[in-house]
Amino acid sequence: SNSDSVKVAVRVRPFNQREKNAKSKCVISMDGNTTTITNPENGDIKSFSFDHCYWSHDECKEDETGVFTPDSETSKYADQNLVFKDLGQGVLDNAWQGYNATLFAYGQTGSGKSYSMTGYGANKGIVPITCGELFNAIEKNKDDNKQLRVTFSMLEIYNEQIRDLLVKGKQKQGGLKVRQSPKVGFYVEGLKQVPVSNYREIEQLMEQGAISRTTASTNMNATSSRSHMVITIKFEQVFMNTSGQSTTKSSEINLVDLAGSERANSTGATGDRLKEGAAINQSLSTLGNVISALADIAGGKKKVLIPYRDSVLTKLLQSALGGNSRTIMIAALSPADINFDETLSTLRYADRAKKIQNNAVINESPTE
Ligand code: ADP
Ligand code: MG
Repeated sequence: SNSDSVKVAVRVRPFNQREKNAKSKCVISMDGNTTTITNPENGDIKSFSFDHCYWSHDECKEDETGVFTPDSETSKYADQNLVFKDLGQGVLDNAWQGYNATLFAYGQTGSGKSYSMTGYGANKGIVPITCGELFNAIEKNKDDNKQLRVTFSMLEIYNEQIRDLLVKGKQKQGGLKVRQSPKVGFYVEGLKQVPVSNYREIEQLMEQGAISRTTASTNMNATSSRSHMVITIKFEQVFMNTSGQSTTKSSEINLVDLAGSERANSTGATGDRLKEGAAINQSLSTLGNVISALADIAGGKKKVLIPYRDSVLTKLLQSALGGNSRTIMIAALSPADINFDETLSTLRYADRAKKIQNNAVINESPTE
């Protein structure tokens, strides 16, 4: 076993049209592993250090295939490929070794979480690139004494209810249930786990899941920014040895696009909206409480209760947070002065997350 802290990356996006129209000023600057934010009211600066700081604020241009690339030789624009190489490749390497891995994106709505995770159009994010590379590597690792299996599942948590994004049509009221077993910890009962044998199959499932997420939120008169999305890829390697016995190495990869972190109070929510906001707060604020408790433990504090059981999200992420997983958080940042408060709170959240210590172990056992 080896103790390993959660890796934290921050990424700042270009101005959006609204920010350009408002003639926004950029309040973020980055230098190496340091990110600095300037308070537009009084000029106060605060600096934070992270494992990776991605400057994706410079203007980018679309090439002939629709991919965003730096628009000049001197542009520092950090593109999707760089982020994949730093973060996704490590997730893959871990998976081959039999470690669990989790990657989650945090930040206010519109800050760039989905862009980094799934991406848009030709600008594929970490999730599709990682899946593509997984199957490239599988093709190269074909071996008669080894069987490789991949399954894919995709769910969303909305109002503390779980919906299977790979099941078409109406689903059971109240959603799927989280159960706990001594062997696997928390899991979602009855969640569809689809065996996949090539990248195209995963791509189709992701498209289907994305449509299902949008349709559901439209029906509920909401936006997908209020739900958490969790993709889980299970990767198993079954080895046959000469005496005919076999062992299985397995890895679970969780890829999480969190709901927007903006606080319920700033949306002026009432009634149903408030209930929804409160429930989202339940998962997100519990995530914050779990992170704080784990940071306290890492700081030497004893007898700290970690409130995993207080929300659906933290139950599902239990092993990712202080358990058997190598975990990466990407905090997405708006560059604009008008979002200063939210961006500062995202930076503080990310700063706390980097203190978490995990204990990842290789999952290897005789094949059942
Ligand atoms: P979120 O998922 O946090 O709500 P999105 O990922 O949808 O936010 O991003 C909001 C908008 O900003 C999208 O139009 C997206 O294309 C753009 N965007 C986000 N990050 C980047 C980036 N690194 N480079 C270029 N455009 C980006
Ligand atoms: Mg999004």
